[in-house]
Amino acid sequence: MKTLIENITNLYKNRIELLKAKDKPKIGWVSIYTPEEILYAAGTIPFRITGELGIDITDAGALLNHNYCSYVLSCLSEGIAGIYDFAEGILFVDACDMRKRLCEVWTTYLKPGFSFFLDLPRDTKQISKDYFRLQLGELITLLEHHFKCTITDDVLREAIDVYNETRRLLQQFYTLRKSGLAGITGNEILSIVKAGAAGLKEEFNKNLALLIRHLKTYNRASTNVEEAATEKEKNNDSKKHRVLISGSYFDNSAIIESIEKFGASVICEDISNGIKYFESRVNPDEEPLKAITDYYLEKTTCARVVDSTRRLNHLLQLVEEYKADSVIYFSLKFCDTNLLDFPYIRDQLLEKGIPVLFIEGERHMTNIENIKTRILTFLEARMY
Ligand code: SF4
Repeated sequence: MKTLIENITNLYKNRIELLKAKDKPKIGWVSIYTPEEILYAAGTIPFRITGELGIDITDAGALLNHNYCSYVLSCLSEGIAGIYDFAEGILFVDACDMRKRLCEVWTTYLKPGFSFFLDLPRDTKQISKDYFRLQLGELITLLEHHFKCTITDDVLREAIDVYNETRRLLQQFYTLRKSGLAGITGNEILSIVKAGAAGLKEEFNKNLALLIRHLKTYNRASTNVEEAATEKEKNNDSKKHRVLISGSYFDNSAIIESIEKFGASVICEDISNGIKYFESRVNPDEEPLKAITDYYLEKTTCARVVDSTRRLNHLLQLVEEYKADSVIYFSLKFCDTNLLDFPYIRDQLLEKGIPVLFIEGERHMTNIENIKTRILTFLEARMY
């Protein structure tokens, strides 16, 4: 099974080399509201910029400000270092003010061959959908002009199928996870989701399908939620304290490792590089542009887009579905959108008897030991 997992996680680990080797233009993105299907239909390879390489953020801080969230600063620092020089362009979404400024700085100083700024309405009213759809039309026109292609409904449908397949497989994988994925670590699962956004869709879909087939055959894991609950009684792995992570972009492997070493397990990540990336699907039976508009505007759970109550209800539903015992809410420093929601979400979770721990940190944390101690103290009080 380890080989099957590595085949997928290597797609993320080696993404830069693998993307460079592809004979198609590449377009980077920094928000899960990026309509990847449209970029794919233009014959490009859309991939997520993750800011994971740990490059010094001093220059990025000088161009923006040091009180920007470290996701934005680390993405920009990779851009400044020339990591994405192989890409033809980048697409920005108005998902928060910091990403808006990132767009201004990136397009002014790094001068990508192609760039687009997509304004993202905050609600799902018809007028918002009409406005969003107009912008998608403008994006299509610019892509057709720049990449000398024609984006027909049929090409869009093909793209929707590829992306829906990724979502379907990841949803299936997470359903298996509910009953315990013995032998797969929390960090491996996060790397699998990140590989799904790394632009290598065909390879990803093929390899994840193989892994799921293996899990179903050899782990006899269940795809049925009720059966999964029964399995929980039998499966030692499922008896562990189950932690759900919510909040900003989070992929700190040292923290996940320490949670697992302590005897608990991370059961779901309600974050943009977790379940938020692949929930629900684009309706394949609708007119493609309408279906894409509806999908991205109705996407649940982002602190920027939906009201806090809708977000809370979604979180509560995940706690129930994944039988989570506690929630760790992680916010990157200076992330106003996630910080603003937290007091309300904390109060509501506590009222319902769900323990919650708030952690505020940086992308590449220097105070990691301090944070690990807080997490372990929180878990200890609930596990023993
Ligand atoms: S972490 Fe917060 S501030 Fe940073 S890009 Fe995401 S939503 Fe914006």
